[in-house]
Amino acid sequence: MQNMNARTLFAPLLAAALAIPSFAMPPAAPVPRAPGVPLTPVILDPGHGGDDDGAIVRGVKEKDLALVFAKKLKARLARNAGLPVVMTRDTDRYVTLDGRLVDSVDMSGSIFVSLHLNQARGTKASGAIVYSYGPEKKSKASRKRRFPSVPPMPAPSRDQASDSARLARTFSRALRADGFKAEASKAAFYVLKNPAAPSVLIELGYLNNPDEAAKLRDGGHQDRMVESLAKAIEEYAVLRNLHQDIEPVPAALTKL
Ligand SMILES: [Zn+2]
Repeated sequence: MQNMNARTLFAPLLAAALAIPSFAMPPAAPVPRAPGVPLTPVILDPGHGGDDDGAIVRGVKEKDLALVFAKKLKARLARNAGLPVVMTRDTDRYVTLDGRLVDSVDMSGSIFVSLHLNQARGTKASGAIVYSYGPEKKSKASRKRRFPSVPPMPAPSRDQASDSARLARTFSRALRADGFKAEASKAAFYVLKNPAAPSVLIELGYLNNPDEAAKLRDGGHQDRMVESLAKAIEEYAVLRNLHQDIEPVPAALTKL
């Protein structure tokens, strides 16, 4: 998530998107659908791309691995015919942060999942972190540089932030259930302010940790992680339908 490129164009499209009040874009549109089958797409957002490499450690570029994971996740989700998936990029090209959000507004996405690889000092840090919007802990100096220089973006509504936090917990819990180290956390990254859909940014692991980097580049390991991520998305999609079709949501399900 570092080296976020500042050369972003504050497109009129985004202004238009932001002009739509959040209450006009409820996360759960009341459209007819088969139980458990959302009609709006899951948006996968491979971080960086093109001139923006993201982190580079021993020749491994964050932008490349993020795209590998996103493509695998899309392919895995395609096995669930009722869960359409779109990607903000499917090649090595640069997409502005604004563009990533405008896409998700235009596509009426049901979930926005940004995929990244982490980098920190030293070689010890490990594990995935699933961020949703919220006040950021600033104890780690490395976090300072993560804020991209882009136009101001209003915070999401409380309901939107709550949905995003629930989605983040669904991801971290699914990863842990399958033996991966993972935690849910909060940050104020630009894409987490997405006004269109519950949004998370997943740092899949640390490239500066040689052991973890080797795993992240291993096809079998990627497939296992992707399976956990897919299960989380499917679980959340079902939960979203519960939100829409059955009221009120049972208390037990609101505490994921
Ligand atoms: Zn990144």
